[in-house]
Amino acid sequence: MAVLPIRIYPDPVLRVRCAEVTAFDAELGQLVADMVETMHAAPGVGLAASQVGVEKRVAVVDLSVGEDPAQLLVLVNPVIVADDGSEVESEGCLSIPEFTEKVDRPLKVEVVAKDQSGAPQRLVAEGWLARAICHEVDHLDGVLFVDHLHGLRRERAKRALKKLVKEQEQREWDAAAPASSG
Ligand SMILES: [Zn+2]
Repeated sequence: MAVLPIRIYPDPVLRVRCAEVTAFDAELGQLVADMVETMHAAPGVGLAASQVGVEKRVAVVDLSVGEDPAQLLVLVNPVIVADDGSEVESEGCLSIPEFTEKVDRPLKVEVVAKDQSGAPQRLVAEGWLARAICHEVDHLDGVLFVDHLHGLRRERAKRALKKLVKEQEQREWDAAAPASSG
């Protein structure tokens, strides 16, 4: 297993619509294992494959952050088939560091997905778990939590994203600069 680098906004891979998984093979198993380790190391409660640069419909969620193996969800090709209610709570994203904002999400969702061996699963989730699943399924469609914000919350998000763009430009500038000859 390996901790993979997490892609940070504005990395274009975060805007990709990820492809359906068709091969439930050892490569997928390795990706899932690496994603779980990366999520726990971050630490985070969810991670989508695009956040580690892999354009596949794979997400992992673990509200216990590794404390309780029973809480780990591996969602391959997940689809939210029903939702109910709504709730506004603070949310963040490993790809948008140091920014949280309140987001309106369904209170309850019903999800169908495969596990990494291809076995079908269907689950009903509420509250934080429903929120985490919605957040990760959004990632697989290239949608970020900031896309759901309006008004003042959106203005705050814009400033945070601008800062991340600047930091990325600085990194590119630094990488392009010729090495000092002393
Ligand atoms: Zn995220």
